[in-house]
Amino acid sequence: MKSTMQTPSLLISQMMRYGTTVHANQRIYTWTGTEARSISFKEVGEKAAQLAHALRGLGIEGDQRVATFMWNNAEHAIAYLAVPSMGAVLHALNIRLFPPQIIYCATHANNQVVIVDNSLAKPFAGLLPHLTTIHDVIVNGPIDEETRAALAAPAHIRGVHDFEELLAGQPTTFDWPEDIDEDDASSMCYTSGTTGHPKGVAYSHRSNYLHATAVQSALGIHQGDRMLVVVPLFHANAWGFPYIAMIAGASLVMPDRFLQAEPLAAMISQVKVTVGAGVPTIWNDLLHHLEGSPVDVSTCRMLMVGGSAAPPALMRAFQEHHGIEIVHGWGMTEMSPVGSLAIPPTEVEVGSDEYWRYRAAQGRLLTGVEARLVGPDGELQPWDGAAVGELEVRGPWITGTYYTNGAESEASLREIAEKFTDGWLRTGDVGTLTPDGFLVLTDRAKDVIKSGGEWISSVDLENLIMAHPAVREASVIGVPDTKWGERPLASIVFKEEGAATVEQVRDWLADKLPRWQLPERWAVIDEVPKTSVGKFDKKVLRQRFADGELEVETIG
Ligand code: ADP
Repeated sequence: MKSTMQTPSLLISQMMRYGTTVHANQRIYTWTGTEARSISFKEVGEKAAQLAHALRGLGIEGDQRVATFMWNNAEHAIAYLAVPSMGAVLHALNIRLFPPQIIYCATHANNQVVIVDNSLAKPFAGLLPHLTTIHDVIVNGPIDEETRAALAAPAHIRGVHDFEELLAGQPTTFDWPEDIDEDDASSMCYTSGTTGHPKGVAYSHRSNYLHATAVQSALGIHQGDRMLVVVPLFHANAWGFPYIAMIAGASLVMPDRFLQAEPLAAMISQVKVTVGAGVPTIWNDLLHHLEGSPVDVSTCRMLMVGGSAAPPALMRAFQEHHGIEIVHGWGMTEMSPVGSLAIPPTEVEVGSDEYWRYRAAQGRLLTGVEARLVGPDGELQPWDGAAVGELEVRGPWITGTYYTNGAESEASLREIAEKFTDGWLRTGDVGTLTPDGFLVLTDRAKDVIKSGGEWISSVDLENLIMAHPAVREASVIGVPDTKWGERPLASIVFKEEGAATVEQVRDWLADKLPRWQLPERWAVIDEVPKTSVGKFDKKVLRQRFADGELEVETIG
């Protein structure tokens, strides 16, 4: 029997229309250095309509791609809403990738028009001669004549436009198309390409809609919230926050280019932020800043952290010193991105050991995310909290393949095919699942340290070392060892020079780990290298080790 229910398409324009009317008074705040400028959701809806008209005027039709090269600000959020709602596809370029990767992504996606922040216009002008599919550039904010001339110079550029001038005078309503198929692409993001070229993921209207609803309800985001979105809009679909804002009626606080701890703390206290989202390194820096210079962050109730494993010491410090809950989440660009959130079962006593075990996990799978663990021999592992396997996932906001444009080599098509088994995405993450669906990751498959036939989790070691009071950051990689095959090398950053010695840290670890897991190789460094999105970059550490650039001490 068929249901009697209606089947309207789940579209981004629907979320936008809802947010900008039902929650018309909520706002997007954008930090300008010392304070925030802001516009209401009502104005956001009007500007989205104006942007859509302007883009039509520049020739954007059908599912053509509109790129952004921007920080997190109101104009970027408007593009996030307007471009998909008009039926086109938004491609937020990762401004931190290496130039050849940016050129690859923009060209592979066939970007036609780009919106660029004025503060990024100069470096972007250097790339533009290579971005031959782009015909028009819209600049957000004033630029000097020299930069304008550089942007206008390539032969393939028809025009360089000012964002505000282009929108001014355009109608403030738009006939948002309703005949878009909910499975059509709304937007795309590329992975950061740790191996080979970055890979494109094309999200659909439906996947974004369902993902935003699931994350909003799991996190309990509501109309009173002001969400500081530090995760870049170009990274992993901005974790869905621009859409969550619309459906929850929660205000957005956008840091623009001010990503250091001091301005972030100022945003929290001045704009009265209630919720934040970012990678562990961002919150780690903020924590250290707050220790040194107290700022009123009492409005903040929750920080969501993901992208890499959140050190338990970080979570405890925020909760115990500042009353802020850190919610650990796991996901991937390929998963829109959220797959799990670590919210302990309500019956677990807050502050108990069990509670912290739940909080440190990567989280409980969200409804809709199906998972299985595949052991080394390909057999499925039980969800018993002990058996380890590679995690495979499937679900309505998980990609079924990568975007291809017809020009791929056979080798890259093969590489893409190998990422999927029978409709399941192979995450490359290794871990366990408990009977109640809590995921604990022990490593990325390629980061696991194989020592004498046993696996050592680099993440566990890092978390333990970072719990030492004198340690600010630590990253552990496997290095070749004649006896054991591979052994851990711990690179650590002390909070202050001379705060402790490597021997002291090692002694401190001794009763917390099985003896065979205790690293004997250590390097003290100034900073752990980070990827384009602020994760610890083990690739760089491995290279430095291979090039003999790390001063390694051997102890024990
Ligand atoms: P990239 O692959 O370019 O780093 P993503 O942000 O999509 O871009 O990375 C997804 C990967 O990040 C996951 O497969 C996982 O290895 C890691 N990751 C994300 N969240 C967590 C987490 N909470 N704990 C541990 N690893 C995480």
